[in-house]
Amino acid sequence: MAPQISNTYITMRTIFSLLAIFALAFTNLAQAQDKVEITIEGNDRMQFNMDEIKVEAGQTVVLTLKHVGKLPAAAMGHNWVLLTEGTDIQKFGAAAAKAADNGYVPEGSDQVITTTELIGGGQETTIEFTAPEAGTYDFICSFPGHYALMKGKFIVE
Ligand code: ZN
Repeated sequence: MAPQISNTYITMRTIFSLLAIFALAFTNLAQAQDKVEITIEGNDRMQFNMDEIKVEAGQTVVLTLKHVGKLPAAAMGHNWVLLTEGTDIQKFGAAAAKAADNGYVPEGSDQVITTTELIGGGQETTIEFTAPEAGTYDFICSFPGHYALMKGKFIVE
């Protein structure tokens, strides 16, 4: 009977080894997720609910902006604008304030990596984009005056 026990032992060991390999492979897969979903909220008090977002370079980012307030876009509009590294937020904000007819995003600006549309209370909007190269970027709401409070860091690792 001894050889049988031994065989069983070897089989069990093999199964455990295989499981370990699968677990490892799975972990690596999870780490290298190529798509990440983010939901950020804006409210009637001119606030985002997060001031830092972390993603990995090259990831597909599916970002949803939710306006959880009640005020219309004309009074308390929110968007989510991702700016190139080193953009002067104040200067950009001043230029954005003059771009009302384009949702407060200066048309053709080379400082905008991507932007959502401008929305009002109860609305939400989703964009999909590829995370830029590693770095620390600023995101803001470019509705006049909002960037003072509605801003954060978009960190690409
Ligand atoms: Zn806003």
